[in-house]
Amino acid sequence: MDFGVHGKTALVTGASGGLGVRFATVLAEAGARVTLAARRTAETEAVVARLNAAGHQADCLPLDVTSEESVEAVFAGRTFDIVVNNAGITGAGMALEMTAEDWDRVMATNLRGSFLVAQRAARALKAAGRGGSVINIASILGLRVGGAVLAYTTSKAAIVQMTKAMALEWARYGIRVNALCPGYIETPLNADFFASDAGQALIRRIPQRRLGREEELDGPLLLLASDAGSYITGATLAVDGGHLVSSL
Ligand code: NAD
Repeated sequence: MDFGVHGKTALVTGASGGLGVRFATVLAEAGARVTLAARRTAETEAVVARLNAAGHQADCLPLDVTSEESVEAVFAGRTFDIVVNNAGITGAGMALEMTAEDWDRVMATNLRGSFLVAQRAARALKAAGRGGSVINIASILGLRVGGAVLAYTTSKAAIVQMTKAMALEWARYGIRVNALCPGYIETPLNADFFASDAGQALIRRIPQRRLGREEELDGPLLLLASDAGSYITGATLAVDGGHLVSSL
């Protein structure tokens, strides 16, 4: 079914690995012309080659979301109908031991970076006189807390609120802004942790008693990106196997 993603231009930040590659692939498979933006261009070039070889339309650009100049360069002469603000870092560590630099690094990437990308995307759309969809990748840690992730959980909560404020201001331009909040998704990077006793204990606290799979974000992403979600803006969509409603 074509929900109107076909032929649209899409930007995915932090698309050199992990969920970003999945998001870019899903949008490309749905017919969007996807630009993968990341600091490590060797990785994005490999994904782009794979997507184009499969008959999809993809290209890549260098992007460091902590740099205003770098963000500016991505939007120079370009307008994206769909923007997935995916770049993010975790910065784990206990609050008492955290340095101001640790705090700044997480905020600069997750919060300030998402702000810069969303704002430039919206300016371009407004100038072009067309609407679009901005999807900010937050986390269930933006809605509840966990230990040893102070800056991360704070940045993601701020992204949820930022999403609502942007949605409110930009609805008049036809620009929708929503936050996608994944729960714990199984990736090669966290496989060791979730195999450990602590990881297994965490999984037992998820009502569905399992981790999410990357492909379980496909539908939620397409809903927010496409005309199927044309009346959804300012929303926070958790995809977490019920983790947020775990029993107190
Ligand atoms: P990941 O580390 O594999 O991917 C993050 C990507 O962001 C990487 O490609 C990295 O290079 C990029 N990045 C970091 N700093 C950047 C910068 N300054 N400029 C441009 N790109 C930068 O992690 P992931 O699991 O794929 O996470 C993707 C997003 O999903 C993040 O925002 C993360 O917080 C969020 N998230 C992930 C999970 C999960 O379980 N994997 C759960 C909730 C939320």
